[in-house]
Amino acid sequence: MADGKVMTYGEARRIARKLAEDTLEHYWTSGKFPVDPIKIARKCGIEIYDSQLGKDRWGMLIGGDNSATMYLDVDQPPSRKRFSAAHELGHYMTHSAAESFDGFEVEPIKPGEGYEDARSDQDRGNVFEVIANEFAGNLLMPEGKFRELKENGNSDIAIASFFKVSVDAVSYRSRRLGLA
Ligand SMILES: [Zn+2]
Repeated sequence: MADGKVMTYGEARRIARKLAEDTLEHYWTSGKFPVDPIKIARKCGIEIYDSQLGKDRWGMLIGGDNSATMYLDVDQPPSRKRFSAAHELGHYMTHSAAESFDGFEVEPIKPGEGYEDARSDQDRGNVFEVIANEFAGNLLMPEGKFRELKENGNSDIAIASFFKVSVDAVSYRSRRLGLA
C-alpha cells in the first residue's frame, strides 16, 4: 500500500464491489447463474490447479511473469471451492486493476509471491482479505439478483442452491446487505 493514505474497511468493500461488477461485465454473461469463478479466472489467463494444500489451506495465488497461478485445495466442498476460487480471483483483480483504487497504489504481485489463504484465519482484518472476501460475495451473489431472490421469499437454502454457494455465505451476504 502506498504511504500516507490508509484504506478503511468501507473503502476496501467499495473497491471490491466495483472490481466484482467490472469483472462480471468483462468476463461473464449478464444474468447467467451460477457464476463460474474458475472459468472467469481462466479467461484472465490464470492457471488453476487442484492441489493437496494440507489441512489448513483453502487456496493460494502466486504471481508469475505475466499472470498468476491459482491452487485450490481438493479437500473442500464444491460450494466452498467456488468461494475460494472467487476469493483468489479477487486478490488477482486487486493487483491487476490499480486504476480502480482512487489514489491507493497497489503493486502488481511479484513472481513467486502472493497469497496463502488459511482456513483458520479466514476472517482476518487485513484490507486485502476484506477486499477478496467482499469481491467473492459480490461476484457469486450479485446484489440485484440477491435482493430479488430475497424479496420473492426464497429461503437461504434455496438461494444457496441457486448461486451454488454455502448457506453460510448466503447468511453473511444477507447481513452485509442489511437483509437478514
Ligand atoms: Zn486471501
